[in-house]
Amino acid sequence: MYTLLSGLYKYMFQKDEYCVLILGLDNAGKTTFLEQSKTRFNKNYKGMSLSKITTTVGLNIGTVDVGKARLMFWDLGGQEELQSLWDKYYAECHGVIYVIDSTDEERLSESKQAFEKMVTSEALDGVPILVLANKQDVELWNCSGGRGWTGWQAYPLWPHLPQTCLSIPDIKTAFSDCASKIGRRDCLTQACSALTGKGVREGIEWMVKCVVRNVHRPPRQRDIT
Ligand code: GDP
Repeated sequence: MYTLLSGLYKYMFQKDEYCVLILGLDNAGKTTFLEQSKTRFNKNYKGMSLSKITTTVGLNIGTVDVGKARLMFWDLGGQEELQSLWDKYYAECHGVIYVIDSTDEERLSESKQAFEKMVTSEALDGVPILVLANKQDVELWNCSGGRGWTGWQAYPLWPHLPQTCLSIPDIKTAFSDCASKIGRRDCLTQACSALTGKGVREGIEWMVKCVVRNVHRPPRQRDIT
């Protein structure tokens, strides 16, 4: 009877846990994305004011529950000297969220190099990757010029920010030579604003679908050896 009841309890309340890394250059918006996710998915969560977040130095950890899945996020610092620490976390992770600052064209090739290094790591073989083209609210502010993406009805947030923003096709083109290195795995590029929350729910729900599905696939190469 006890076994039956504890089995039922576990079935109803226990969450399956998945570890998801949040990577990207410093200032891309990783911590803002993490805070926005916690605010959207965790009832009664009162985090810090999103506009007061400063760049990640070291590590931030956060948990988000989506249905029966619990995503444990590890938001790692993106400064050059901290990127060498990323691969220490690869073996434990089920998914990666890679954040790009769409307003920072100057550092796009630096971001691509970091992405390429990450994606070719054997320890991440088959791991789903969500690429977030972040800060797309800035595009909207400037979208009267019409650089392609006009889906959102948002307004300028921070008058001091640069007035241009790379579109999803711009970013895909810049990252095009990474396509063959991504291999056979789930990968999605999603327009996002960590500040306003647009695209955040869709991105996280996609990630949950992928990590849950992956559990039922054969183990990754690194797990066999
Ligand atoms: P991290 O270093 O990658 O963790 O980046 P942060 O989350 O600390 O964000 C760096 C800066 O970018 C902060 O000033 C944020 O307010 C700003 N930021 C983050 N996400 C967005 C966004 O979606 N839109 C805009 N306009 N600014 C953002």
